[in-house]
Amino acid sequence: MRTSNWILTAALLVSIGTAAQQATDSQAPTQSPATAAAQTADPSQQAAPAPDAQQPAATASQPGQTSAQSAPVQTMAPPPALPAPTTMDQVVNLFIEREHGLIKALSNRTPVVETYLQNLTADPQLGPVPSEDHYFLGRLDMGENIDRKDYLKEQERSMQQRLLGGFQKLYKVQYQPMGFSWMVYADRTDFDREHYDFRYVRREFLGDVRCLVFDVTPKAKSGRGRFLGRVWVEDQGFNIVRLNGTYYPAPRNSYFFHMDSWRLNLIPGYWVPSFIYSEEGDFSAGVKSKVAFKAQTRIWGYDLKKGGKDDELTNIRVDSVQDSSATAQDASPLQAERVWQQQAEDNVVERLTSAGLLAPEGDVDRILQTVVNNLEVTNNIDLPRPVRTRVLLTAPLETFSVGNTIVISRGLVDVLPDEASLAAVLSHELAHIVLGHNLGSKYAFNDRMLFSDDATYQNLGFKHIPEEETAADKKAVEFLKNSPYAQKLDTVGLFLKALQQRALSLNALLTTHLGNPLAEAGQVSRLSALSTQGPALDNNKLDQIAALPLGGRVKVNPWDDKAEMVKTAPVAITSARDKMPFEVTPFFPRLSRYGGNAPTAAPTTAANGAQNPGN
Ligand SMILES: [Zn+2]
Repeated sequence: MRTSNWILTAALLVSIGTAAQQATDSQAPTQSPATAAAQTADPSQQAAPAPDAQQPAATASQPGQTSAQSAPVQTMAPPPALPAPTTMDQVVNLFIEREHGLIKALSNRTPVVETYLQNLTADPQLGPVPSEDHYFLGRLDMGENIDRKDYLKEQERSMQQRLLGGFQKLYKVQYQPMGFSWMVYADRTDFDREHYDFRYVRREFLGDVRCLVFDVTPKAKSGRGRFLGRVWVEDQGFNIVRLNGTYYPAPRNSYFFHMDSWRLNLIPGYWVPSFIYSEEGDFSAGVKSKVAFKAQTRIWGYDLKKGGKDDELTNIRVDSVQDSSATAQDASPLQAERVWQQQAEDNVVERLTSAGLLAPEGDVDRILQTVVNNLEVTNNIDLPRPVRTRVLLTAPLETFSVGNTIVISRGLVDVLPDEASLAAVLSHELAHIVLGHNLGSKYAFNDRMLFSDDATYQNLGFKHIPEEETAADKKAVEFLKNSPYAQKLDTVGLFLKALQQRALSLNALLTTHLGNPLAEAGQVSRLSALSTQGPALDNNKLDQIAALPLGGRVKVNPWDDKAEMVKTAPVAITSARDKMPFEVTPFFPRLSRYGGNAPTAAPTTAANGAQNPGN
């Protein structure tokens, strides 16, 4: 349960990079304080999707805001309090017990798991850069053993096939081993003293949470594929909050890659596996290994199918019913048509939300809505039904719209450099709405919504024909030129150029699942009229930030899927390698305890070295 839903944080999408270069958004009629979000290019700060401890405990949730303060979380009771340990040996016993408790507590969950992987190649100027990419989305059955025997082979091709085996079909429900999720737990079956040695290393803060750090090594002859690495154990409930390491020993001609796995305290008493970063590859001179990649795995949707969601969906339904009955008259044919379309739109939004693909209405939507408003007001757009926005929880860069709802993916919000570029991608969808391209209403029949979650991508699609795409781009540019963003379209041009530069190597990131792609066959097509706008792309210009790394803007609560803007402190970019446009970076969430009962207001610079990404 998060506490920050009612605070309009940050302003996103101000120019980033060096803090000094922010444009002031004074002429934009935004309500959002377009100040704070100077972005960092420091992966450790940027990827930080931890709940906010600094927020005051829930006080005034805003009216009209769905569920800022929802009911007590779930049916999962916190584990009983344990006697305080007096020796490190007792601490080991406690976290072993807690680990087994977590495995049991989550065993009926089937969260969504997404892995986005970039293969790397060395660029003399930029260092390791993506050469190609892969994307996997599925459901993880936490009750199943995650089988580590399905290791990868040395050759990259077979590595990916084996590792990601069964993952070819997007959004296929997975009840099979998934390599990147191995480190959800250290060892699902044998995490005990018979199989492992535990050695206390030191105390260390991770965010607001004081931890005890232990090295974990498999005992001799305890079998293959045992966890080898380090665990961080918080010092109140003695739950593991972070695991970092690999598996050992590997069979001949095979190996296990390294992972850094983070948990968040999203429900009382439990720290829930949330982010796993994996990386392999050594670009030092003389190294011959061909395998080089970095990958982010995100897990969310723990609460799907249970609790929480229903209320919110009911609220949306109630709203739309009220809208249509307010006239207290029979509907005219045109009104009936509109209500019918609204119903189709609501059905789709509800279906995507219950499949764990859309975030519930929230924080980020208010920022998106503000930008859409700016476009509407300055273009005198007056639609019979209001335009709404929602966040697709996945990484691939896409927008689409259904009825009057504009959907933008988390990954796209992440990489956009500023508010003007956000306005640009939203304006394309607004144009579809204004031009009447979204009037299809086949989804108003509820039976069309009756398919399983894994078939969502097959059954829903909101792609437009090329003529509509061209018309929407044309209209979008008109909107932008009348808007507060008219003078800032250079950054849109730069973004499109950066996207073009990486388009061939980021095929998976550019493969859309529900809407039209921004680029096809390595050629950026979206808003091409703006692609020549602005200065030339220049990696050496440190104040020129054309696109951001993934993970820097939107953080998702893995338990309830709510999305909010990340708050990061500006970090100066000191070399072209700091820019990392569209790239994957390590996670470094700021850990805090559930409900924020941590020491008050510990800022990021808390007095300890744990914030350094030096792992
Ligand atoms: Zn379109």
